[in-house]
Amino acid sequence: MTKEEVLKKYFGYDSFRAGQEILVNGILSGRDTLGIMPTGAGKSLCYQIPALLMPGITLVISPLISLMKDQVTALNQAGIHAAYLNSSLTQGQYQTALRNLIQGRYKIVYVAPERLLTESFLWAASQIEISMVSVDEAHCISQWGQDFRPSYLKIPDFVEQLQVRPVVSAFTATATAEVREDIAAILGLQDPVTLVTGFDRKNLRFSVKQPADKMAATLAYIMEHPDECGIIYCLTRKTVEEVHNALVGRGFSATRYHAGLSDEERRENQEDFIFDRKEIMVATNAFGMGIDKSNVRYVIHYNMPKNMESYYQEAGRAGRDGLPSECVLFYSGQDVVTNQFFIDRMEAAEGMDEETAALVQERERERLKKMTFYCFTNECLRAYILRYFGEYGDNYCGNCSNCLTQFEEKDVSETAKNLIGCVKTARRSYGMTLIVDTVHGSKNSRLIQVGMDQNPYYGTCEEEPIYRLRQILNHLLVEGYLFLTDDKYPVLELTEKSEEILNGGTLLMKTAKEQPKKIKEKKPKKRLLAEEGEVDYDLFEKLRGLRMELAKKDRVPPYLVFTDK
Ligand code: ADP
Ligand code: MG
Repeated sequence: MTKEEVLKKYFGYDSFRAGQEILVNGILSGRDTLGIMPTGAGKSLCYQIPALLMPGITLVISPLISLMKDQVTALNQAGIHAAYLNSSLTQGQYQTALRNLIQGRYKIVYVAPERLLTESFLWAASQIEISMVSVDEAHCISQWGQDFRPSYLKIPDFVEQLQVRPVVSAFTATATAEVREDIAAILGLQDPVTLVTGFDRKNLRFSVKQPADKMAATLAYIMEHPDECGIIYCLTRKTVEEVHNALVGRGFSATRYHAGLSDEERRENQEDFIFDRKEIMVATNAFGMGIDKSNVRYVIHYNMPKNMESYYQEAGRAGRDGLPSECVLFYSGQDVVTNQFFIDRMEAAEGMDEETAALVQERERERLKKMTFYCFTNECLRAYILRYFGEYGDNYCGNCSNCLTQFEEKDVSETAKNLIGCVKTARRSYGMTLIVDTVHGSKNSRLIQVGMDQNPYYGTCEEEPIYRLRQILNHLLVEGYLFLTDDKYPVLELTEKSEEILNGGTLLMKTAKEQPKKIKEKKPKKRLLAEEGEVDYDLFEKLRGLRMELAKKDRVPPYLVFTDK
């Protein structure tokens, strides 16, 4: 069978989506493969299809029992022999599954990472032909990831112990550079075929609001969007209950989901939402992993989530069908305090030493900071998000709440002329940083070393801050007035359009309005956090301690102090 035939026969699809084919081909040619694609892009098929075409068995490492179950059920329904090995099986079931595995009854087997190095599993693995080890949610291997699982570190040890090294493929929706590099390095991927598909979701409109009354703002939003499906994410169970009650009390078709409900109730509520029996899902972040509902028209974040990864993943559940959809974030200072509290009481994951745990906490704080900045930026929200995930492009999408209200069109011809002039008169080609530093008149040593302090354009844009010069330079690249080479050390080159600007052409650019929003951080409310949080009363004392500390310092945690910049 060809891969297209497998796609049609087992999965019922006519064609591959962007990126899938490259990854499938990579694996089938025997290369290690790393696929980085946003949630919902269709990563599972990228390893499931090759698995069916390779001679031996594919082991899939996955972090969640529920995900394994869903996937195996779906595969079985499609007529594919698959099974999972994890702690949800009884000893007897586990032994039976292992026997079946050895007897070649399965083509795809999902394994919990904790099982890999057990004696019984290693023995079973030595009895079978393993064509591929595929690592799903591969970011779990990185301490930079939002979801580090120490047990994922067993994967490379396991692969090492196999007599024949299988193809290793890894998939994740987390695109930050650190995580990407960690995955490849820790898994020991050998010259992997790597594919990062665009993270931009053009049909989503992002907005951030700071309503005085979130409940009123939410109700107003829902009333303006009748008959539409939406998800409302809250930070705590208690808030879920409050919002849910308010909606149901006013006759809206809403249901709810959080870890405090029984398995059965959660399943029911989830299905009510997925099958359009209820329009609105009010939930904590426990809701959504592996959920595939295409017609979600809006995602409201009633509270700011803990980091950009979570935000984009949750917001990204809107508009899977490609139709225009909205992602609204309601910010308040209390959200930062609540998240901060969650970070402070984070417990070290199993097998994590204290030092690592402290590091993880520190990184969580960093991430929370960047999430908070998102709520305050005057820049294009889409650009902010994409830059966070390592994508650089235009600074203006024209469709987010900032672009629609915070932007103005400015004449940047003079600065553009200086930048292009500097590139033109430089004795050789230089990268963006050196050109920006030159027109800014910086005194850095490399610049002086190459004699750029003698360039006629040196210091011509002294007044412009570096970040603004970079924005304008970026705009010149996007608009084709300059070109950035594709080399290891990319350099700037002139294009046929460059002269237009040098000859006095006008260049307009949308930029964030200069004056920053007035930011007044409120002190944490006098009310105890426990009333707000998904917090058990054992932690009550600790909580009081935190509050006392904050009160003493008379301000919210240090990172909330914003500078003039
Ligand atoms: P991810 O793991 O990247 O979040 P999934 O593998 O769960 O995404 O796939 C998301 C959805 O896209 C699933 O419903 C899947 O069946 C569907 N899908 C995947 N590939 C295709 C395709 N080539 N054509 C149509 N639908 C697809
Ligand atoms: Mg997936």
